[in-house]
Amino acid sequence: MEFVKLNNGIMIPKIGYGVYQIPKEITKECVLNALSVGYRHIDTAFMYHNEKEVGEAIKESGIARSEIFVTTKIVNAKDYDEACQMIECALKTLKLDYIDLMLIHWPAGDNLAMYKAMEDYYFQGKLKAIGLSNFYGNELDNIIKHSRVIPTIDQIEAHVFNCQIETQKELEKHSIVLEAWSPLAAAKLDIFSNPTLVKIANKYHKSVAQIALRYLYQRNIIIIPRSKNITRMKENIDILGFSLDVNDIKEIEKLNRKKSIYQE
Ligand code: NAP
Repeated sequence: MEFVKLNNGIMIPKIGYGVYQIPKEITKECVLNALSVGYRHIDTAFMYHNEKEVGEAIKESGIARSEIFVTTKIVNAKDYDEACQMIECALKTLKLDYIDLMLIHWPAGDNLAMYKAMEDYYFQGKLKAIGLSNFYGNELDNIIKHSRVIPTIDQIEAHVFNCQIETQKELEKHSIVLEAWSPLAAAKLDIFSNPTLVKIANKYHKSVAQIALRYLYQRNIIIIPRSKNITRMKENIDILGFSLDVNDIKEIEKLNRKKSIYQE
């Protein structure tokens, strides 16, 4: 597994397993499966209602805590005290002494107060890294302007249909790493039968999913694909040992609609 070094020196596995929309009834089994096939980075959130089961899977796996990178997210705190309660709640629900990465899920509520609370927990060592999700433009600049700790990551929508090339350049100016949510475009826009991707997949004897993920991976973007299926979990982590060439990357970037899959 390759890692990316964040701006505070923390190492994050470049491929993680996302658990958005994984029902809590099967989350423990899915996370255990993901860990069994080699994932060492799990992405959850308060809003996914499955932090507890993620924590249970980590404990049950028997894998050393230090080997698993856990991200969770808080959102919409109205003030500093409420943000602190949310952080305490995440630690308690996950049953962890520390969280590797905490993000503000999207700009809502008192973002500066939430960020300040995360900074204070970061200084106490209970959060090893802090960052943002779905922050762009002024909202991102505002956090950077008022922060004591530069965000390590901005987790935003990024995939072959929304490549986020300009956003990545902006983030890099602040040494913030782009982490892609929905790296498989949440299976929308017929991604798995897209003719360009099918052609490239055939050329490399890989699946479309592997090509779509490898494209982001080669741009040094962190990816957190989700699958309930252990075979597809394995497929999504098995993207090392080959490289897309410049022409294939150009072809893939012709698919870039430069807008969200949720926008028409
Ligand atoms: P995704 O990973 O882009 O796509 C998941 C979909 O692709 C599922 O329908 C899955 O179905 C299918 N799939 C996965 N691997 C496949 C493969 N190899 N071949 C064919 N189909 C495959 O979607 P996502 O869950 O939206 O995004 C990933 C993670 O990003 C989330 O789980 C979450 O952790 C994070 N996220 C964050 C935000 C945010 O606001 N910060 C927003 C959205 C997502 P099966 O389960 O049947 O395989």
